[in-house]
Amino acid sequence: MSLRPKRHTQTSLVLLLLFLLGSGFLTTSLLSYYASRDSIRQNIVDTELPLTSDTIYSEIQKDLIRPTQIASMMSRDTFLRDWALAGEQNPEPVTRYLREIQDHYGTFTAFFISEQTRTYYQAKGVLKQVNENEPRDAWYFRVRNMKEPYEISVDPDMANDDRLTFFINFKVFDYQERFIGVAGVGLTVDAVVKLVDDYQRRYDRNIFFTDRNGHLVLTGAGGGPMGAHRGQPLSEVPGLENLLAVLPQPRSGDYRYDEHQRGHFLNVRYIPELEWFLFVDKHEEGALAAVRHSLYLNLLICLLVTIIVLTLVSLVIRRYQQRIAALAITDSLTNLPNRRGFELHVEQALQEAQRDSSPLSAVMLDLDNFKLINDQHGHLAGDEVLRRFAERLRAALRQSDILCRWGGEEFILLLKNTDRHAAHELAEKLRQHCAEQRYPVGGEALQVTVSLGLSQWRPGEALHDLLGRTDRALYRAKQAGRDRVCLDL
Ligand code: GH3
Ligand code: MG
Ligand code: MG
Repeated sequence: MSLRPKRHTQTSLVLLLLFLLGSGFLTTSLLSYYASRDSIRQNIVDTELPLTSDTIYSEIQKDLIRPTQIASMMSRDTFLRDWALAGEQNPEPVTRYLREIQDHYGTFTAFFISEQTRTYYQAKGVLKQVNENEPRDAWYFRVRNMKEPYEISVDPDMANDDRLTFFINFKVFDYQERFIGVAGVGLTVDAVVKLVDDYQRRYDRNIFFTDRNGHLVLTGAGGGPMGAHRGQPLSEVPGLENLLAVLPQPRSGDYRYDEHQRGHFLNVRYIPELEWFLFVDKHEEGALAAVRHSLYLNLLICLLVTIIVLTLVSLVIRRYQQRIAALAITDSLTNLPNRRGFELHVEQALQEAQRDSSPLSAVMLDLDNFKLINDQHGHLAGDEVLRRFAERLRAALRQSDILCRWGGEEFILLLKNTDRHAAHELAEKLRQHCAEQRYPVGGEALQVTVSLGLSQWRPGEALHDLLGRTDRALYRAKQAGRDRVCLDL
């Protein structure tokens, strides 16, 4: 009996389950991954980057507003103006004045440049004379000529090791509104740089400032994107080609670009006080690493669950198949192999006998007048007799003997390594044994005899022929009066 179609069915079922579980798990895992990824991206674009940008912007404003007021006050200060108008006789009072401003208000530097003498006064005394031909003094002449009353610039402070400094430069006028110089304060951008560094480190984002032309003007202490330095245009920074494709010139807004296959989110904001652009840039790799990690974990768990479920299903199916296969070859009343079971066994027994040239005998047994038992005691009583008869017969045989229920009240016995004489002897013993048995049914002890037909297998003989000869022997036993053994002639 072949189990192949069943295996095929089992494989199809397992594959179907694999497909259903796999696609179900994969769909839910991927859906939740994409949902989390989108919400993280949304959060970066809508909240994280603008928030950083807001904080840095307000920090810059905070840093600039108070100094602007101080510089404004200096430009209207009567002492300063009177002293300048009186001919700048002695630098000492103005130096003291500037030192007071610097110390009291905590500015980095305080200065006054006189138009009359082109002298640069600061807290430590006279710094230098400003010169129209000196590029580093160009700022003075720029302020002198501008229409606005003041400007905020960021320049290296020559009085302080060229440290990058916010300068608030106010024009100073006499009482007739004639220009007499420039006064103001400077403050280092250290606080802003520290803030930038702090944000970059804590929140894994890149923060830098450019001027209107996209030149880097301020970065964290570690430099700008890809290690770019101050003064460098973004167009010269390797890896930013895709950014420049979407943003050739700085412009406020939210952008997305790729750098070496890494997605970036970018928030750009214009800072009107400085005419700068603030760039807050975050690559999504770090932000998405956790959710990607949980996707992999999810998939791994799904894979394990799928494997466990499929293994369990396969085991259960195999066990059921085995049970069904066993049921198909077993007689349910006597628990003996049925005709199909017999065919399975006999094939192998015939091959062995052929191979080993060993004798093999077949015995057919048929209960005598069994119909009467049914008629007199009922079908259930007949069943009970059949069941017990089979049980006792099986107990009287060797393990290697093949006993099957051939159908109805007929049984067949295949005796390995047994020639017709030995088989005859055994058959006779069985006949006697059966005749001696009593079957207690409904308070009665029933007795039943059995007729047996016997034949020895002839090498090369087909099963069908062997059974035919055996059946004929049985027929003769019946004909001869039952309760006897007849050999095939
Ligand atoms: P003989 O000695 O010629 O074999 O007479 P018999 O009555 O045994 O033979 P027959 O073939 O006329 O009748 C066999 C009876 O066995 C008839 C049938 O109802 C009964 N039988 C067959 N299978 C079963 C079964 O599973 N249970 C019961 N209770 N009776 C069965
Ligand atoms: Mg019969
Ligand atoms: Mg019978």
